[in-house]
Amino acid sequence: MKKIVYLTILICGLISISGYIPNRAEASGSYTAKVYTDSLNVRSEPSSDSLIVGGLKNGEIVTVSAEEYGWLRIKSDRVSGWAAGHYMKKIDGNVVTASVTVQDDSVQKSSAAARATVLADGLRVRAGAGLDHEILGYLKKGETVTIMDNQEGWVRVQTPDKLLGWVSDRYIAKGETRTAAVSTGKSKNLKGRVIVIDPGHGGDDPGMIGTTYETIEKKLNLSTSFYLEDELRSRGARVLMTRTKNEEKPKLSDRVQISESAGADAFVSIHYNSSEKNTSGILTFYYSDTKDRPLARAIENRLADGIGLKSNGISYGNLHVLRENDTVSALIELGFLSNAKDESIVRGSDYQRKAAKAIANGLEDYFSR
Ligand SMILES: [Zn+2]
Repeated sequence: MKKIVYLTILICGLISISGYIPNRAEASGSYTAKVYTDSLNVRSEPSSDSLIVGGLKNGEIVTVSAEEYGWLRIKSDRVSGWAAGHYMKKIDGNVVTASVTVQDDSVQKSSAAARATVLADGLRVRAGAGLDHEILGYLKKGETVTIMDNQEGWVRVQTPDKLLGWVSDRYIAKGETRTAAVSTGKSKNLKGRVIVIDPGHGGDDPGMIGTTYETIEKKLNLSTSFYLEDELRSRGARVLMTRTKNEEKPKLSDRVQISESAGADAFVSIHYNSSEKNTSGILTFYYSDTKDRPLARAIENRLADGIGLKSNGISYGNLHVLRENDTVSALIELGFLSNAKDESIVRGSDYQRKAAKAIANGLEDYFSR
């Protein structure tokens, strides 16, 4: 057991060191800003690798004295340090609204236009359809927008403040049907819940390679994640995937970012394990005792319920996607590719389907607490 834990941390630890520094440098100047996310880490330096010195809550007002690479130097009555700028909105300036409230003809014709509900707190509204465009403002989870146009994953919207701009379409739910589920928010099951599935590895990082059948972990992670996606969607959840292709390799910080930007209710990372010993079975990792452990426990309970491989329980894991994540998160190793029996079982779609069901049941149990 000790050995399994050590090896897994060693393996995943190799990929958990990349830091994230947004490359947006901006002019400095002192102003007041408001926090638009449930909890925001305050750090010693403008970097996600630096020490956490405190936290800010939704709605909290801070003074901003400097900006660097998208980070803001803030001071509240309780804490001072650096925090990620995109979760805060300037409130004593007119930067956000002044230049962009001009209505155009398309707005006038929009009485029958499609509506959509915002799924993420602090969703950025940009001047154009792409991440390189200027941020004009922010939307809150549950707000309703009018869809004006769309283009390659981006949607042009009009916000409740009559702001016109572009948002990423993965963070809005089109139509009125989902509005109820989203606005009532915290249901006791998966309906309306936003779940991020993170298929581990990808691109030039294949993960583990099976010793008997040469199964490639990144592919297995993805196929299992697709079963989980289907399972969660069928239960009414809104699912976001950190990657959907074997060639894709999102940075670890970007995987976390997807979950935080979406204001997700849970984040689940899917992996398969390896060990020099002939170890077999499933292992579920958590980072925070208070935030993550209950989710890991709930999922493990279901995985232990006879899906084909035994469970080795839950374990603390100092892994980037858990450690840096404000979202409740778990990382699941669904069997050992270094064990011939495990490998032959986990390759089967039958096992992956059962695992997906068990994880979905675990999430449901977690939200029903
Ligand atoms: Zn892995």
